[in-house]
Amino acid sequence: MLAAICHGARDLRIEEFDPGELAPDEVLVNVAYGGICGSDLHYFQRGGVGDFSIQEPMVLGHEISGSVAAIGSAVENLEPGMRAALDPSRPCLSCRYCRAGRSNLCVNMRFLGSAARMPHVQGGFAQALILRQDQVIPVPDDTDLLALSVAEPLSVGLHAVKRAGNLQGKRVIVTGSGPIGLLTARSAIQAGAAYVVSTDIEDAALAVAREQIGVDETVNVQSEPDGFARFQDDETQFDVALEASGAPQALHSLFSVLRRGGRIVQLGMMPPGETSLPINMVQTREIELVGAFRAHDEFRSAVEMIVSGKIDVSPILSGTYPLDRAGDAFDLAGDRSKVVKLHLAIAGEPA
Ligand SMILES: [Zn+2]
Ligand SMILES: [Zn+2]
Repeated sequence: MLAAICHGARDLRIEEFDPGELAPDEVLVNVAYGGICGSDLHYFQRGGVGDFSIQEPMVLGHEISGSVAAIGSAVENLEPGMRAALDPSRPCLSCRYCRAGRSNLCVNMRFLGSAARMPHVQGGFAQALILRQDQVIPVPDDTDLLALSVAEPLSVGLHAVKRAGNLQGKRVIVTGSGPIGLLTARSAIQAGAAYVVSTDIEDAALAVAREQIGVDETVNVQSEPDGFARFQDDETQFDVALEASGAPQALHSLFSVLRRGGRIVQLGMMPPGETSLPINMVQTREIELVGAFRAHDEFRSAVEMIVSGKIDVSPILSGTYPLDRAGDAFDLAGDRSKVVKLHLAIAGEPA
């Protein structure tokens, strides 16, 4: 079985990968499609993400969908041949965070394609892979597996929106319109936000936000440096900000456009190190600053929304490359003027 294995910066190889032995509660899956995420791209471009760098060859990928190939002796409700959504999170289920219903904060998390621990957790850009049974969610036979592979990034948007609290009737700004920012904006609309503004530095991404995601207004914060001037009185300020760009200046800029008592949800990955913030405004305006990291139950919500058609993820699908052209896909994936998200066809559609 083949996989896309990263050996270090700009060293991605398609090589044999042994998925290993199946435990009683595990499932062997064939991966149909895998979406290239910003973190995969960072591993490819720099050999690391945030504070983590690749110390041994690692299969990339965590936005995947596929079908069941074989089941362990204790697995129930799954049969070979079933199409399935594949959750990249494998929390321990027993630490204090897992028991409190916050498994995305699990201290023993094993997340696909992550160099956060040694040995690294091998990722999902592999033709065959072993997951624990709770990571495999069966879907109807006619499910579009390419769209289904967007369940993980959609779940991140849904989780950020949950961290924002009730959005009914609220004015919301989403900074950053990459795949996560776009799916977060879509999730905010779904949650009843009255008016949604998206920002970015790339016009192509903002066009997708307006024309396909359905946000009300966009700001290119690079070509329109005064773009936030129109959101600074009490009527036009925002109740909630969802910071999806991971740019310290984007977070900083939100303090001038947020209403008193407003909430900022930081879901974009910030560069390591410190970011200075106007904490005096947090205090005198009672601004709430909360983090959002990955997702937990929202993965199942995302699967349901994609399967039912409640959320159309096609605006972020920019093209599919066969596994043996993964290098070309990774070269193009970072060009935000041309693509939102690229996918790899890994084992392809199940028979
Ligand atoms: Zn991702
Ligand atoms: Zn845990």
